[in-house]
Amino acid sequence: MTRPTPLPPGPLTLGIVGFGKIARDQHVPAIAATGLFRLAAVVSPHGATPEETGLGDVPVFRSQGEMLAALPRLDAVAICTPPAVRHALTVEALCAGKHVLIEKPPAATLTELRLLLDAAEGAKRTLFAAWHSRFNAAVEETRRRLAGATVRHAAITWKEDVRRWHPGQDWIFAAGGFGVFDPGINALSILTEILPAPVVVRDAELRVPANRDTPIAATLRMEGVAGSAVGTVTAAFDFLQEGEQTWTIAIETENGRLDLTHGGTRLSVNGVPVLAEPDAEYQGIYRRFHHLIADTAGDVDARPLQLVADACLVGRWRTADAFHW
Ligand code: NAP
Repeated sequence: MTRPTPLPPGPLTLGIVGFGKIARDQHVPAIAATGLFRLAAVVSPHGATPEETGLGDVPVFRSQGEMLAALPRLDAVAICTPPAVRHALTVEALCAGKHVLIEKPPAATLTELRLLLDAAEGAKRTLFAAWHSRFNAAVEETRRRLAGATVRHAAITWKEDVRRWHPGQDWIFAAGGFGVFDPGINALSILTEILPAPVVVRDAELRVPANRDTPIAATLRMEGVAGSAVGTVTAAFDFLQEGEQTWTIAIETENGRLDLTHGGTRLSVNGVPVLAEPDAEYQGIYRRFHHLIADTAGDVDARPLQLVADACLVGRWRTADAFHW
């Protein structure tokens, strides 16, 4: 990608498109903490008030189109909507000459993601599909320790309470909303980052509530291909976990055991804690986004989405009890 002009001095201007839970909880504080971008606008279809946004006089637009028309010099956007509407918004922003950061999952389908890459290439703008769980020192340390190792088995346990973490978010259970794969894809983003070789999905069971479209629980069995340094990998995803919440990956190698826990923020080796750092995932995301723009580069890794799509293709679909908030 060739950038027509050098980066302007000072923070780049950015608009957040989709001002929901993740925009408020993580994007706004990370933008402020890193100082690399200045939040210039937000897009909120229902028209969030300044009291709701807590952003003072930062303008709120009802659609991305309105924002792009009103702020033609905006440098970048962060798409923080549910995945089903992300493709059209991302293409619109790229075609308007904006650099684009997209939340996970990066698209509703693999074809959409492929076409987003083409759109970014055509527009000569940065497209960054962020996998937030990868932005932990413990994930990088695990990747480093597994490079060149033989992984006999890995077990993902990703079990959380959807009523606690996604209250009232009906889009998660509507077609294109990913269901339990919305958090589960975070585990798969870590897995694809840390393993020394790829895995393929051999078997899956997906349980869909009788009154919904997407799975509320799923199990996957994956394995490395013949001759690979990776044996079997199992995954158990559950959206109905009450009490203690579990986001762990337990890895058995020929040299011992690694436990990546608390969503990838802590690492133990053979039962001994070696790394535990506070969550600064989104600051890492914004630093990387700025780097990519400065380097006229992009970063789109489709592998976690491919594994979800493969599980949907080879999986056995079962009906589960109806789900009500
Ligand atoms: P959310 O609270 O439901 O917020 C989504 C927001 O998107 C809503 O405010 C909605 O606006 C807005 N929106 C919908 N369609 C839009 C459109 N066409 N243009 C502009 N805005 C639109 O969902 P969330 O939890 O923030 O999740 C959003 C994404 O972030 C998901 O892909 C999720 O996987 C990812 N994520 C979430 C978390 C988390 O902990 N929640 C963590 C990491 C990543 P209205 O309110 O006006 O309808």
